[in-house]
Amino acid sequence: MIKFLDLYGQYQSIAPEIDAAISEVIRQSAFIGGAPVQTFEREFAAYQEAEHCVGVGNGTDAIEIVLEAFGLPKGSEVLVPANTFIASSEAVTRAGHTPVFCDVEEDSYTIDINDLESRINEKTHAIIAVHLYGHPCDMDAILALARRHNLRVVEDCAQAHGARYKGRRVGALGDAGTFSFYPGKNLGAYGDGGAIVTNDKDLAGRCRMIANHGRVDKYDHLFEGRNSRLDGLQASILSVKLKHLDSWIKRRNEIGVYYNEHLRGVGDVITPRTADDAFHAYHLYVVRTRQRAALIAHLGKNGIQCGIHYPIALPRLKAYAHLQIHQNTARADRMATEVLSLPIGEHLTKEDALAVVGCVRSFFGRA
Ligand SMILES: *Cc1c(COP(=O)(O)O)cnc(C)c1O
Repeated sequence: MIKFLDLYGQYQSIAPEIDAAISEVIRQSAFIGGAPVQTFEREFAAYQEAEHCVGVGNGTDAIEIVLEAFGLPKGSEVLVPANTFIASSEAVTRAGHTPVFCDVEEDSYTIDINDLESRINEKTHAIIAVHLYGHPCDMDAILALARRHNLRVVEDCAQAHGARYKGRRVGALGDAGTFSFYPGKNLGAYGDGGAIVTNDKDLAGRCRMIANHGRVDKYDHLFEGRNSRLDGLQASILSVKLKHLDSWIKRRNEIGVYYNEHLRGVGDVITPRTADDAFHAYHLYVVRTRQRAALIAHLGKNGIQCGIHYPIALPRLKAYAHLQIHQNTARADRMATEVLSLPIGEHLTKEDALAVVGCVRSFFGRA
């Protein structure tokens, strides 16, 4: 069996460190806030090369809190790629705005700049740039557009811990970057967790207040915020795992490069491309094929788990039927029928990667 994800295997590889960290938080009883959270926030800001990090409850809240902290006019239009997880647009609606879906690029699967620009009008106030699958968006182009049209930019980095754009880590390239520590992400907690990174001190301060009941001091509240905090146990686990993240991402890259070399040109498979100036975090390894269902069945028969990210483009979800979206997002719509995520992660051995390649090749009648 080649697993898509092996959380228990990962735990076993670092069990003594994790167990010690958890015991220490319990000993300190630093369950909310306190040293473990502050330490992780400092470490994660340094890792993502950002000045500030605010731990929050999850990656969806992180986007919503940043949007709230911007203080945009209610009902603003916020541009979101059509191919991403629903959280990217759900947070927009929850923050009191309207998501406007943009088509995605053929090569990187991230938001298409020309399509993005064509959807900007006087109600547009922000862009959610999703570094999908771990591949950075074309941030220079996005930031240039944002400057020209006075838009705020949130980088949704839920799949892109450790990714680089032109040598720089993603997250603090725009106004703020949001992260998820959902267990299956490249850096995952043992429950929900999230973070916001930014180089804007005031923005970081506003986010922190919003996430903690609008509090300035104990029982002194400047406004009504909400409760969305990273807890001490999760922070301590994340601090342990952060030390291993670069080696895990390196392993993901080795597998990704191996797949690229051996799956390119096999049947009708389209392998993902990495931009020259990008360092891919390979959260997901996504190919495209018109024979997806049959290939999944073939892989499954051979004990290889895979996934689909995502089978329905956001504008076509039932959740958005009420918006009556007739906009053309043709590439995203077609991708939804063709994308297939093969197993990738530090849990895969060289033999596993070989077996995945062999299985895909055998499906297409290639040795
Ligand atoms: C996982 C994910 C989120 C949401 O993160 P949660 O921590 O599950 O709330 C947001 N955006 C993208 C692209 C994601 O993959």
